[in-house]
Amino acid sequence: MSIFKTVELPCPTCATRVSFELVHSVNADRRPDLRQAVLDRSFQREQCPACGLAFRVEPEFTYIDVGRGQFITVWPLSKQGDWKAIEQQSQAMFDKSFGKGATPEARKIGDKLALRVVFGWEALNEKLIAAEHGVDDRALELVKVARCAMPTASRSARASSCAWSACAATR
Ligand SMILES: [Zn+2]
Repeated sequence: MSIFKTVELPCPTCATRVSFELVHSVNADRRPDLRQAVLDRSFQREQCPACGLAFRVEPEFTYIDVGRGQFITVWPLSKQGDWKAIEQQSQAMFDKSFGKGATPEARKIGDKLALRVVFGWEALNEKLIAAEHGVDDRALELVKVARCAMPTASRSARASSCAWSACAATR
């Protein structure tokens, strides 16, 4: 099930109230159209009827795709500083639905799911794109960490070899 709630939010430019169907939970197995909307960045984007500005609400929902083994809790970028508490909260949400607090049937599904916590729309997109291309997202994170640790001048030259070693390390 994908659960929505309608709310009105002020346009950032002219303060006109704009209606949004806010999502609490996206089930990509049942609603592949919502997954596609996340990918093309149209999901939860509305246009202000007064000034025409298209804007997006910061995400805060759970995203589940059993077929691709994904259970992602998605949070606003503004909450990134609270990552430690949010990580625990996310684990509790997972445990209740698919982990130790769930029914045996649900736990069986949970065994195939990887829990991930992301902040902001782009981080969610990255997880979906990685899964689509069969890229291990943990390897991708290692590549990013390795790139950040490099001196700026050598980043582009060393990026490809770094990517390969990170992938190999997680296999
Ligand atoms: Zn407006």
